[in-house]
Amino acid sequence: MNKWQEEDLKYIWHPCSQMKDYEGFPPIVIDHAKGINLYDIDGKCYKDVVSSWWCNLLGHCNPRISNAIKKQLDTLEHVIFANFSHKTAITLCQKLMDKIPKGLCKFNFADNGSSSIEMALKMSFQYHKQTGNPQKIRFMAMTEAYHGETLAALAVGDCDLYTKLYKPLLLDIIRIDKPDCYRCPYCKHYKTCNAECFERTEKAFKEFGNETAAMIVEPLLQGSAGMKMYSPVYLKKLRALCDEYNVHLIADEIATGYGRTGKMFAFDWAEVSPDIMCVSKGLTGGYMPMSIAITTQEIYDAFYSDYLEGKAFMHSHTYAGNPLGCSAAIEVLNILEDEKIIENANKKAPIFNKMIKEKFSKLPHVGDIRDLGLINAIELVKDTKTKESFDGKLRLGYQIYKKALDKGVLLRPLGDVIYFNPPLIIDEADMDYVTDVAVSCAKEVLNI
Ligand SMILES: *Cc1c(COP(=O)(O)O)cnc(C)c1O
Repeated sequence: MNKWQEEDLKYIWHPCSQMKDYEGFPPIVIDHAKGINLYDIDGKCYKDVVSSWWCNLLGHCNPRISNAIKKQLDTLEHVIFANFSHKTAITLCQKLMDKIPKGLCKFNFADNGSSSIEMALKMSFQYHKQTGNPQKIRFMAMTEAYHGETLAALAVGDCDLYTKLYKPLLLDIIRIDKPDCYRCPYCKHYKTCNAECFERTEKAFKEFGNETAAMIVEPLLQGSAGMKMYSPVYLKKLRALCDEYNVHLIADEIATGYGRTGKMFAFDWAEVSPDIMCVSKGLTGGYMPMSIAITTQEIYDAFYSDYLEGKAFMHSHTYAGNPLGCSAAIEVLNILEDEKIIENANKKAPIFNKMIKEKFSKLPHVGDIRDLGLINAIELVKDTKTKESFDGKLRLGYQIYKKALDKGVLLRPLGDVIYFNPPLIIDEADMDYVTDVAVSCAKEVLNI
């Protein structure tokens, strides 16, 4: 352990970690970064193929984003956002209007993904209360969903690892079976199916639709559940069903937005719009903490009246609309456009997927290889015929994680799912390198 690591462990309680694990495996102290490369204080390089928790969209220390923030910093670093505004936030909204699903047009700012989810849930609840449906007080969400870590966000989520312990504190959610595409009970494939599993959702709406304010989904990709992918047909059907029951459709695009799935937003694949869309992560390219809950004129109008009627949305975050975040977010949109980032990522996607299939598909224990945009996931299973999972106590993913770090690649498997979710600017040489490392680590850990 070096001096910095010792000092780190004296003070810092790291997120989502058993700190005792750090005794034998102290934190890697990063000194600087460039593109997809992180460099530690000894100069060792790590390829960041998880985009630093999926937020880094265009590489680290991108000079255009850095300069935009620096320029903003010398102009206006922050200002209260109630009754005050600034050109940077206004410009960002103007620019986003061309990019977001049709019908979304009102922007409410916060400073992290979970907070934007809280906002969406509160907004939906209050909308129904103020439009004559006070019985609509519940939320629907999918099994194995992930929507963040604050209490309401945790409640709509369903990853045992994060939620189980806190169950006594959480809202009672109507849980809908997620599309389970690797182990599809209808024996279909998500790229060609007609979302046959949607009948389970219809049943839930029949039973609970009238008391439900909103259904929240991670569109097309349940990230934390293990990069599980499903069909856009599901979203199309869900839009129609939500309309039928006057239930809001909340899109958690925090992980899927900004080109991750090959289109600007995952909902674009379904060619329908949600009622509220939460964005964060890619929004600022991963440079500044910021999120937005974007909604429709109709929802906005339900809050618009004389002050004394008490219909306003009395929700705030100190750093709402932070100009530094907005300046980064504008520059991200400029770069996406000027450098044709999404088009180019879509050209690279089949190449990356082919590499991964060539290297992994013949290995024993590789149950499924799935892809969406540049996101690729490899699910390891004990038995590929029965699709039985490995015992979680073996912590295979964690072992692969440690080995890959040793070889200079930051992979962070979710359980036994190895995945790649790199910055969209990754090049072919790096794709080749990181997949080589991943395959050799998987072989070592699986003893094959
Ligand atoms: C990361 C994430 C969140 C939570 O965002 P934070 O900024 O970590 O609070 C919510 N939903 C999804 C789908 C995410 O990936």
